[in-house]
Amino acid sequence: MGYSDLDRPAQFLKGVGPKRADLLARLGLLTARDVLYHVPRRYEDASTVQKIGTLEPGTEATVVGRIVSKGVLPTRKGLRIFQAVVRDSSGLIECSWPGQPFLDRVLRKGDLLLLSGPVRFFHGRQLQPREYEILAREGEDISTEGGAVFPIYPATEGLSQRQVRKLIADNLDDLLPPAAEEEVLDPAMRAEARVPPLQDALRDLHRPHTLVEAEAGRRRLALEELFFLQLLHAIVHHQQTTQRPGIVFGRTDALVRPFYQSLPFALTEAQRRVLGEIGNDMGSPRRMNRLLQGDVGAGKTVVALFAMLRAVENGYQAALMAPTEILAEQHLRTLRKLVGELPVEVQLLTGRMSAAERRAALARIEDGTAQLLVGTHALIQERVRFHRLGLAVVDEQHRFGVRQRLALADMGETPDVLVMSATPIPRSLALTLYGDLDLSLLDERPPGRQPVRTALRYEKARSTVLDFIREQVAEGRQAYVVYPLVDESETLSLKSATEEYQRLSEEVFPELRLGIIHGQMPPDQKDQVMRGFAAGEIDILVSTTVIEVGIDVANASVMVIEHAERFGLSQLHQLRGRVGRGSAQSFCILLVSSPEAADRLRIFSSTEDGFRIAEADLQLRGQGDLFGERQSGLPAFRFADLEKDAGLLNVARVAARSLVDRDPHLSTYPELRQALERRYGERARLFQTG
Ligand code: ADP
Ligand code: MG
Repeated sequence: MGYSDLDRPAQFLKGVGPKRADLLARLGLLTARDVLYHVPRRYEDASTVQKIGTLEPGTEATVVGRIVSKGVLPTRKGLRIFQAVVRDSSGLIECSWPGQPFLDRVLRKGDLLLLSGPVRFFHGRQLQPREYEILAREGEDISTEGGAVFPIYPATEGLSQRQVRKLIADNLDDLLPPAAEEEVLDPAMRAEARVPPLQDALRDLHRPHTLVEAEAGRRRLALEELFFLQLLHAIVHHQQTTQRPGIVFGRTDALVRPFYQSLPFALTEAQRRVLGEIGNDMGSPRRMNRLLQGDVGAGKTVVALFAMLRAVENGYQAALMAPTEILAEQHLRTLRKLVGELPVEVQLLTGRMSAAERRAALARIEDGTAQLLVGTHALIQERVRFHRLGLAVVDEQHRFGVRQRLALADMGETPDVLVMSATPIPRSLALTLYGDLDLSLLDERPPGRQPVRTALRYEKARSTVLDFIREQVAEGRQAYVVYPLVDESETLSLKSATEEYQRLSEEVFPELRLGIIHGQMPPDQKDQVMRGFAAGEIDILVSTTVIEVGIDVANASVMVIEHAERFGLSQLHQLRGRVGRGSAQSFCILLVSSPEAADRLRIFSSTEDGFRIAEADLQLRGQGDLFGERQSGLPAFRFADLEKDAGLLNVARVAARSLVDRDPHLSTYPELRQALERRYGERARLFQTG
C-alpha cells in the first residue's frame, strides 16, 4: 500500500465485503485510515487475570476461560437464568447471568471468554459476570504476541467487538507502513514530549504488550491533537497581533503616574507582574491580545484602568465592554471613583439610555470628547463611531462569543485587546479554549479581605440555617438562597424554587421582603429584581441559577446553596464570590443530602483559591463536563486529556508558536498544512487568505 491507500474505502481491506463495509460505516469507518484510527476504548489487562482454581467467594475476579457447557435454567419465580461452565488450565467455575436467557443465542460452547464480576457461594463457587468479552470462538486462537493486554473496541450491532478486533488485527501490518508516511510531528518535538513515532504509536494502541505501551501510543496521538489546535491558535494569534500593525503606546505618564500616586493602596505582586506584561504589549508594535484571568476581587478593574489610562494619555480612547447593563453601570461607578480628580472624560453607553442621552453619547464618542467608554453590546453596534479607539477591554469573556470579542477588536483602527475573566480555569483548559490569546494571571488577593466562612450542612439542618438567615437580616444584612439548575428546560428547578419562594415568603419569613429571580424571566424583569436587591429593598433573594456574574452587593453576607452537590465546584466558587464583598463577616452554607456529597465538597469549603478549585473540578468531572457544551467551545478531543496531558500541551503550545513565528503560513510545511485542513476544515482555511 502507498500513502494515499489509507484513503481507500474500507471495503478494500481484508475480510471486508460490501455488507461488512455497511456495518463499518455505521461506526463512522469509511476509509482504511478510519479503521486504522479506530482505537480501543479500553484494555483488559490479562496480567491481572486470576486462575479459576484459586477464586474465593466474596471477592471480585477477572478470568479467561472456555465455555464447556451452557444452558438456560428456569427458576420457580419465573426468572430465567443463563448459565455457562467455564474452564481454564486450573479448574472450572459456573457463571450465571440472571434474567439474560438471550445470551444462550450469543455465547457458544467453545467460546473463549474474558469475564469479570463478583464470586459468590451458591451450591458451590459461582461467578456473576458484570462484563464479558468473547476473545475467540471455538478453534480460534488469539494472537497476543506474548502480551497479555486485550484491546476492547467500540462495536455495533451486527459487528461484534471480537470481529472488529480480528479485522484490525488482520489488517494492521498492511496499514502501519503507509501510516508512517503520514507522520507530521517532527522528531525534536516527539523527543521533548517523549512519545513514539506515529507508526509505533498506532501499533502500541492496537497491539500493546503492556498498558504502559498503550498509554505511550495514546500520548502520541494526544500530542498531535493538541499541537494542531495550538497551531490554529498560533495562526489566529499571529493574525491578530502581528499581521496588522498595532499601536505603540509611549510612556507619557501624564495620567498613569498621577493615578498610581492617587491609589489608596499598594499594588499586589501579581498586579505588578501583570501590569508589566500588559505594558510590554502596549509599548510594542505588536497588538496586544491578552487574557487577564483573576478571581473576583483580585483587582482586575484596577489593572484594566492602568492600561486604559495609558491609551488615553497617548491620545486614544479606551473602551470597557461588560455583558450586562448592571455590570456596565457598576464598572462606571468604580472607574469614576478610581479616576477621581484626574482629567479624564468617562462615558457610559448602554441600551437603557434614552434616545437623547444616546445621541449625545454617540456624538461625544465620535468627536473624541469621551475618552474612557464603558458599556454593553451597545458599544459594538454599527452606529458607534469611535474617534480613535486604542484599547478594547472585554469583561467576562465567556459571556461573549469570540465573534463579539473580535467585533470590538475591529472597531476603529487596530486597538489593543485585553480580555478579562473572573472564572478561574486550569491553565490547560485556558490554553485550549483561549490559546490564541496570551495569558496573564492575577493569582493573589489584595490583603485585608476577610475570608468567607464556608459550612457544609445536611438538609435536616435546614431550619437552623433559616434561623441563621433571620439573624443576619435582623443585623441589617441580606441573603441569597440558590437552587440548582436541574435540567436544560429548567422546569424542575423552577418549580422547586418558586414553590420554595412561596413557602419562604408566606410561612417562614412572612415579616421579611423576598424576591425571586430565574432564567426564564425577561431581562428587564431580572434587572429590576437585581436593582431592588442592590438597593436593599429585598432582604432575601431566591434564585434558580447563577446570579449575575460579577454582581456586587456588598451588604449581602449569606449565601445558602440548596442541593449543593448538583453544582460543579467552579460554579459554587462563582456563587460564593457574591458574598464577602463588604466589611461584615460573610457566610456560605452548602446544603447537601449525603456524606458522599459532603466529601466531594470538602476541598471547596477548605479554600477560596479559585484556581485550586478549578483544578479539583477538572479532576472530579473531567474536561467534557467542566463547562456546559454550549458555552465552552471546547474541542472534542479523542485522545487528549487535559488533566493528564498538561505537559504535552506545553510542548505543543511552544512548538506551535515558534513554528508560526518562523513561517506564519506554513508554506514550507505543506504536509502539515494539509493535515491541519483535513482536521479543521474551514477553520484552517481561514488563514490562507491572510
Ligand atoms: P476584580 O475586578 O478583579 O473583581 P477589582 O479591581 O474590582 O477586582 O478590585 C476589588 C476591590 O479591591 C476594589 O475595591 C479595589 O479597589 C480593591 N483593590 C484592588 N487592588 C487592590 C490592592 N492591591 N490592595 C487593596 N485593595 C485593592
Ligand atoms: Mg501594541
